[in-house]
Amino acid sequence: MLPINFLPINLRLRRAGALPELRRSKCELRVVRDANVFFVETILKHHGLLECFTEINTNPSYVDEEGRLRILPFHHSTTSSHGCKLCPANMCKGKIIDRIKYTSSIKGKNRFIYLGDGKGDYCPGLKLNQGDFLMPRKNYPLWDLILSNHHPLEAEVHEWSNAERLKMKSCSG
Ligand SMILES: [Zn+2]
Repeated sequence: MLPINFLPINLRLRRAGALPELRRSKCELRVVRDANVFFVETILKHHGLLECFTEINTNPSYVDEEGRLRILPFHHSTTSSHGCKLCPANMCKGKIIDRIKYTSSIKGKNRFIYLGDGKGDYCPGLKLNQGDFLMPRKNYPLWDLILSNHHPLEAEVHEWSNAERLKMKSCSG
């Protein structure tokens, strides 16, 4: 049985009770989400799950003097354009996965399970290698993109539609 080390994860799993169980099973859980820090941390804190994650990758945000939430791009197009044609200008999740893969390879951790549903999850899916899992949510844009098969994928693809079934798949690897 291969260890599962990293799981950039979809926040919709919060209702399934899957996250603490995955954390206990030595998965390192990371958020890679095109939302913002305020949103992600608020949701995770509300559900008591913030401590389950070793890293949150999302767009920076802050509250301005007038009390309005301001959101900044994760990759700022004027200072460090990510140069990826598959991703929106503000965030290339594939670049984030490249960095996580590099740092995890130094630690000797090398298996990734990537859960996603949106178009922005296709680019990181292309960064995964043999032995990794790409888990698209059925009938969502990522699933459609994989079916249309524009680029070859090295990772094993396992679709999911139900968080309980996903929990079983993720923990049985
Ligand atoms: Zn990209």
